[in-house]
Amino acid sequence: TSFAHFGFDEQLMHQIRKSEYTQPTPIQCQGVPIALGGRDMIGIAKTGSGKTAAFIWPMLVHIMDQKELEQGEGPIAVIVCPTRELCQQIHSECKRFGKVYGLRSVAVYGGGSMWEQAKALQEGAEIVVCTPGRLIDHVKKKATSLQRVTYLVFDEADRMFDMGFGMSLLFSATFRKKIEKLARDILVDPIRVVQ
Ligand code: AMP
Repeated sequence: TSFAHFGFDEQLMHQIRKSEYTQPTPIQCQGVPIALGGRDMIGIAKTGSGKTAAFIWPMLVHIMDQKELEQGEGPIAVIVCPTRELCQQIHSECKRFGKVYGLRSVAVYGGGSMWEQAKALQEGAEIVVCTPGRLIDHVKKKATSLQRVTYLVFDEADRMFDMGFGMSLLFSATFRKKIEKLARDILVDPIRVVQ
């Protein structure tokens, strides 16, 4: 597969070329067409495999389609991840690629200023990259609304569970089974991609 197979427009292709990526990685080759097709997906790939871009590029295409259809407030895409560092890293990739369409990303994570994050959310962003607890805090305080969200990513879902974001699931003997069940409950007929 080459980048040309994805059918991205010239603006996004230009930015990919600027990043000096010569060809898509295996997780991108498999994952991008699935996400572009609107299917749910469980992706198993290591850090360094290019998995971030594999969900960011289809996300940008989805947002640009959705933006025309749905006016309104709040993010269209939400990316949930386990740590502040990962949050900042994903946020910077979202900015790098999202800027070609003038899309805005906000990062909200535990340990950062609630007030500054709330202000950024209220200024408006199509993309929110967050840690789970902090996103919930902002929603409770009505700094943002999730009613417009149609693209949802859990990055490093296994680590989020390991860190206790899976609540009581963590203490269950059937932990793995419960992750599987959760994935089955919230995903619709997901395609599994294993690298
Ligand atoms: P990730 O697995 O998402 O943490 O990405 C690891 C690194 O690979 C990041 O620094 C990306 O900028 C880079 N990367 C992503 N896609 C490609 C690609 N197609 N070719 C070369 N590098 C890439």
